[in-house]
Amino acid sequence: MNHDHPIELSALPPNDSRYPDIRRVTLVGTAIDLLLTILKLTGGWLANSQALIADGIHSLSDLATNIVVLVAAKQGSKAADSDHPYGHERFETLATVILGTVLIAVGLGIAWEAVERLQSETGPSPGVMAIVIASLSVLSKEWLFHYTMRLANKIHSPMLKANAWHARSDAISSIVVIIGVAGTMLGYGVLDAIAAIIVALMIVKIGFELGKESINELVDRALEKGEVKKIIATVRAVPGVVKVHELRSRMMGGKALIDLHVQVGSHISVSEGHFIGLQVRQQVLEQFDEVSDVLVHIDPEDDDSIKVNYDESPQRPQIEHQLREELNDPQLWQLLHRFQFHYINGQLELECCFIEPLTEEQLQRLTKAALTLESVCHIEVVVLQHPLPAPTSTKTRVKAT
Ligand SMILES: [Zn+2]
Ligand SMILES: [Zn+2]
Repeated sequence: MNHDHPIELSALPPNDSRYPDIRRVTLVGTAIDLLLTILKLTGGWLANSQALIADGIHSLSDLATNIVVLVAAKQGSKAADSDHPYGHERFETLATVILGTVLIAVGLGIAWEAVERLQSETGPSPGVMAIVIASLSVLSKEWLFHYTMRLANKIHSPMLKANAWHARSDAISSIVVIIGVAGTMLGYGVLDAIAAIIVALMIVKIGFELGKESINELVDRALEKGEVKKIIATVRAVPGVVKVHELRSRMMGGKALIDLHVQVGSHISVSEGHFIGLQVRQQVLEQFDEVSDVLVHIDPEDDDSIKVNYDESPQRPQIEHQLREELNDPQLWQLLHRFQFHYINGQLELECCFIEPLTEEQLQRLTKAALTLESVCHIEVVVLQHPLPAPTSTKTRVKAT
């Protein structure tokens, strides 16, 4: 009954190896729906069966859904461009909302007409042709169910499985028609109209499901809570990840876009933090089919439970300038290879890398000068021994807090 599921097709990139299989099965389904729509609508009209006409509208709605899927799969999979940086999937979402709305209106219209006919209880009985066409529908949809299910199991596609069950629900819809028409021919005059009402309500349900899913997407509804928990567990398992917070998700073309904050070691390098971010993204994309992109924000400390503020913290040029003035030793300054700044806990830690060991006196003066600066709470001195023989380093630590 998952009429909303075929929509996910568009989220498949055309270079997905499963794409040709899924495309083929969707095309076969579309051809069957086209044939059934024509047969049921003309047959229902000729054989005077309201139920079969309703079933024909159902097939028409399936046909329209498939066409949206096929067109959107092509259009929606167009790469993002500068006008639509998040991709084109939302066009499909919008089309689905319109389709859902139309289906609800059509379904209610059919039901209304059938109710009216129930009250008048007149009109000629439907012919045997209606039963033949409905039987054809049951057989072809049941065949499509097995065909799709076999392929779904082969390529492990949950989406195709949902499509298969949809085919079976279509078969059930036609069985309702057969019962209605046969009952009417046997003298239970109201059964065709009742069957029409049941099928009409199925159409309304399809409309609601299509509309609900797509409207959720348009208003940026998040992923299910259980799913979010699983994603967080996956991220936590990545080496180097200390904590995870502020995970946000929203749907786009049936798939989720995720952004999250990942806390890493407070003193690791920018490139290592970035590397951990890449690992997080890769793990989530690999393990969650329904996620299409992950944006990772790296935190050096827990800024979720502890609110730290760096509004007043000095920037690099300012610190360098102040320290230079304070130290007032051009010779020592010359030996300075580079600075590392760590903005942690609302304060600033200084790491000074020298290319030569400092004397005890130089070390004292440097420490004193650094700690004079307002925001600096801690200084470390590192002596680099490169370029000979290889870039290794000996650390001389001076801790002063
Ligand atoms: Zn259907
Ligand atoms: Zn954060």
